[in-house]
Amino acid sequence: GATIGMVGGGQLGRMFAIAAARMGYRVGVFCGSSDEPAAEVAAFTVCGPLTDHSAIEAFAKRCDVITLEFENIPADTIAACSKHAPTFPDASVLAMAQDRWIEKTTLREAGLPVAAFEPVSDLESAVAAGEKLGWPIIVKTCRSGYDGKGQHRLSCPADAEAVQWDGAEGGANDGPPWVAEAVVSFEREASVIVARTVDERVATFPVFENDHRNHILDETILPANVSAEMEGRGREIAQRVAEHLGLVGLLCVELFVTEDELIVNEVAPRPHNSGHVTIEACATSQFEQHVRAICGLPLGDTSMVVPAASMLNLLGDIWEEAAKQNGIPNWEACLATPGVALHLYGKHAARVGRKMGHLTVVGSDLDEVSKRLNSARKALLSDRT
Ligand code: ATP
Ligand code: MG
Ligand code: MG
Repeated sequence: GATIGMVGGGQLGRMFAIAAARMGYRVGVFCGSSDEPAAEVAAFTVCGPLTDHSAIEAFAKRCDVITLEFENIPADTIAACSKHAPTFPDASVLAMAQDRWIEKTTLREAGLPVAAFEPVSDLESAVAAGEKLGWPIIVKTCRSGYDGKGQHRLSCPADAEAVQWDGAEGGANDGPPWVAEAVVSFEREASVIVARTVDERVATFPVFENDHRNHILDETILPANVSAEMEGRGREIAQRVAEHLGLVGLLCVELFVTEDELIVNEVAPRPHNSGHVTIEACATSQFEQHVRAICGLPLGDTSMVVPAASMLNLLGDIWEEAAKQNGIPNWEACLATPGVALHLYGKHAARVGRKMGHLTVVGSDLDEVSKRLNSARKALLSDRT
């Protein structure tokens, strides 16, 4: 079988490697250390920093095709890989996704709906952005942010004075280090995952509805509570993003759903946390679809195979709670609930806010799913006796 190279060792890489192995591929992982989640399920692992070109090139030489599981990979690292094997997504898609200024500008120029935004580099430009967009605003670092890190919600000029404006990394191509966005008063958040092949075939998954807590995804439900018309529009937006970027691989579009609009929040050119629900809920999982897309296979059927499903992230917080009761989460009790599937990423240390695993719950409708999820969630911290 052919060898797929995965750059990055986290849980997205791990679930990708499991899906690829099932289809007969050998997966090699390039990551920082051999105990990362993906390394533990890979056929082989090459360890090194992402800036070590000789290590990366030695890795790339062993692969027939290369992909990645996070977008903050230096563009020259991806360029080094692509000397030895086709690398998807390519450096231009990566450059767009790793800088919010480039991302928003690209989407706006493609006629896709984004919240109004302004460049920010210091206190003065932050205040000017607030005056122009109308307070409150959300300022985000253009680079390296995730799980809401590097974001500030500012209600007035005084709030802007409290931010350390010289703390952010500079933007690419002399772009700003920060971007300010108008606050969108959304009814709900959603996401759409799209896959596209070298020969331009495209498939989208159904719209997922996402609930965040403390800026971290908490729960994804499927089907989303949106009209059929919105569902169609969401999938069309994702397809247009993929086509506009010339994407090969998998990409997730995060959306704000207002009363009558869909607004793109951000895009991620890789498997997405919200897409974990597809493993149990759809005919093809996002990970299998990613394999199919980069290997030039026919794209899989994305339709649901159950009436309703939900995915709950298991953060390190639950381990901390269980430790207070001198134990670990009660998996036995959790799995006693019908329709529950458990995924653990094999991370060795639990920390508050760290994604350790997830639960997927399926059922005959969202009401049943929500009841099952609540019982499974409660069971996690129940007594073992
Ligand atoms: P991740 O990559 O982990 O999804 P991130 O750090 O890139 O997170 P965003 O997705 O930009 O952050 O924002 C995190 C959350 O903050 C959003 O899902 C949403 O709940 C809220 N948020 C972000 N931007 C806005 C906005 N303009 N208006 C209203 N809410 C927002
Ligand atoms: Mg993000
Ligand atoms: Mg996001």
